Amino acid sequence: MSELSQNPLYAYEGLPPFEQIEAAHVVPAIRAHLAQVESALAAHEQVVAPTWESAVVALRDIFEGLGRAWGPVSHLMGVRNSPELRAAYEEVQGEVVMLSLRAGQSEPLYRALRGLRDSAGWSNLTRGQQRIVEQKLQAAEQAGIGLQGEARERFNSIAQELSALGTTYSNHVLDATRAFGIDITDSAALSGVAATGLMLLSSAWNQAHNADTSTPESGPWRATLDMPVYLAVMEYAENRALREQLYRAYVTRASTGETDNLPLVQQILRLRREKAQLLGFENYAELSLSTKMADLPGVRALSEELLSAAAAVGPSELQQVRDFAAAQGESAELSHWDLPLWRRRLRESLYAYTDEELRPYFPLNKVLDGLFALLNRLFAVTVRPADGAVQVWHPDVRYFEMFNESGDKIAAFFLDAYSRPGLKRGGAWMNDCQERWLRPEGLQLPVAYLICNQTPPVGDRPSLMTFDEVETLFHEFGHGLQHMLTQVDEPEVAGISGIEWDAVELPSQFMENWCYHRATLLGMTGHFETGAPLPDATFDKLVAARTFQAATFMMRQLMLGMTDMSLHADYDARSGERTPLDVMTEVAARTALLPPLAEDRFLCSFSHIFAGGYAAGYYSYKWAEVLSADAFGAFTEVGLDNSEGIARAGRLFRDTVLALGGSVEPMEVYRRFRGRAPSTKALLEQYGFTV
Ligand code: ZN
Repeated sequence: MSELSQNPLYAYEGLPPFEQIEAAHVVPAIRAHLAQVESALAAHEQVVAPTWESAVVALRDIFEGLGRAWGPVSHLMGVRNSPELRAAYEEVQGEVVMLSLRAGQSEPLYRALRGLRDSAGWSNLTRGQQRIVEQKLQAAEQAGIGLQGEARERFNSIAQELSALGTTYSNHVLDATRAFGIDITDSAALSGVAATGLMLLSSAWNQAHNADTSTPESGPWRATLDMPVYLAVMEYAENRALREQLYRAYVTRASTGETDNLPLVQQILRLRREKAQLLGFENYAELSLSTKMADLPGVRALSEELLSAAAAVGPSELQQVRDFAAAQGESAELSHWDLPLWRRRLRESLYAYTDEELRPYFPLNKVLDGLFALLNRLFAVTVRPADGAVQVWHPDVRYFEMFNESGDKIAAFFLDAYSRPGLKRGGAWMNDCQERWLRPEGLQLPVAYLICNQTPPVGDRPSLMTFDEVETLFHEFGHGLQHMLTQVDEPEVAGISGIEWDAVELPSQFMENWCYHRATLLGMTGHFETGAPLPDATFDKLVAARTFQAATFMMRQLMLGMTDMSLHADYDARSGERTPLDVMTEVAARTALLPPLAEDRFLCSFSHIFAGGYAAGYYSYKWAEVLSADAFGAFTEVGLDNSEGIARAGRLFRDTVLALGGSVEPMEVYRRFRGRAPSTKALLEQYGFTV
């Protein structure tokens, strides 16, 4: 106990003591909490009653200490990684996961929650409280808790088999990707490939041959199916035969020999359908959609609406590429392996600008000032730096506090903006440090982690951002706002918690739209040497480039989404009449500008739906885009430069989408903001598809 009392991770006041936490603290702190939770949980299972306090609130208290210790550990894995931390994390991770699974599948807790739902006290709960109970019940039921005897056994064996099949599927894709490569020694064969591309191909060669003799300038090089390498060839190489060879290899990945995924696709689809039917659903799509905002008719209607609009424009986009190629002297009929190259050339001819040209106009502090000013205009919140008020995990990390119109502090966030190769995971993300929670001793305010990976300052040159990085910052801030501006007091449905999976990207994509508003964007640019704003003409190119070949890309996304949904809703592997490939071909007949090659086996590498979490969920990319564009439409309708109108729409967005979190059904939240169900009109207009 004396050692635990010295362990800063075991128990702390306020926010995590990042400066004191070391890898050596992890295992003892987590193990101590695990033991406490286990015995508290077992004791509680003996006495749990069908009341709100006993079935829900008591569980919070049981798990709180573990959560407060585990949260910073998971966070540090992403931002201050080390071999010691990783080893400690891996040592206890499985136990943490097992324990929360055990609570989620506990029969006594489940019975208490059901009792609560059927009790007279149910109607006294708020809608948010009811949703917490409903979500817990649903999760337990979908984990098979309601099944008995043989059905339960079958369910468990399906779950295990599906998990193994997903892993094998994913390994096959990785193995097939790694196994393929074209070694190239003649630099003429790579004519057109950019210097960065040659670097990628050279290091691919070194990697494949376990050597260090290749150099970007003199080779040898290796063309592979690894995405950056693949694109470096497909978009740049003048060598048409090479592109064709690479393309054919790409669309037939994991479809032959030992890594053939086609039998796995059949098997996965069959088992998913059986699992859904054991749980009382017609098919897997219904099971998947039962926890989401969208329903099947809604997804289908949306896909058809977008498809008919995009299909009206797509052929002319293809013609535009063909005309451009012909004008440049290309005499061949363009095929799949020609389009990436010619699209890239066309795009550059239309909107020539490079990331590097834009960078000097986006110093981080200028961008933050612009972002905070926008938050003030829209949501009447004020952001103030509070560096030094709390401990941080790296000296570059900043801390800010957020205040409402009355000057009350309502939230705070950490901003960790710069990349730290080897220590910090790539990409950008938002995570919660602590959630809003009304407790007997007072209100706990939400605190967010906002993590980006941009270039650090060098000398007296500030951190300069690319436009993509600015958009990413806005995106993550959208998630952060939903976490921080929540007005919900129950942590399970406060902020981003308890929100349906296909609704979570609404605020993030909504915020991205502001990067394409002239006054907002130009207002946060200032050349780091001269202070000059981004030139208007460059802004115009940014806006135009956003919709370049948009119908083509939308049709591609729709093809993937509609194939996914058709496989999980309509296709029945047991009927034996059609194969999954037939389903893909049928969808492609309606959605592809160029018919897929006869040997196309994309389903064998569609990891999103066969080895990831997107099964009967791929539509969500388009769904979120429709929601966010339609939400932004509430602002364009009043006029983006009409400050009063914007303020009114912003307050409403704050008080609905951002405030209500998971406490109300997302469709209801949306209606409260927009006064109606979402419409595709705004997105189609944004893309210029209006028929
Ligand atoms: Zn996001």
